[in-house]
Amino acid sequence: MPYTNSELLNTTHLLSGVDKQRRFLLKIATTPTTCASCGQLVSQVEASGKSLDEYPVDDAQESEFTCPHCHTKLRWIVPLMGSPFWMTERAFQGSQERK
Ligand SMILES: [Zn+2]
Repeated sequence: MPYTNSELLNTTHLLSGVDKQRRFLLKIATTPTTCASCGQLVSQVEASGKSLDEYPVDDAQESEFTCPHCHTKLRWIVPLMGSPFWMTERAFQGSQERK
């Protein structure tokens, strides 16, 4: 049986390559980062509006993210391949206001 997201995050079992990759993505998804709009901390899972176990970690980039604090639509940016964090950008009108 496949692991649920919360089981994957907490398991101490040896994981296969696929499950290791999913756990890596889950750690990113549950790590809070600052909202590009209001500066409050928000994780991908929180911004997706789904529970941890509902979160589609394999196609996270296809998900819609909305900041729960300011309700701005956010886009997930991975700043460097393989880095264990993510950044947000406003999904619309973000490009004109870059600092
Ligand atoms: Zn916000």
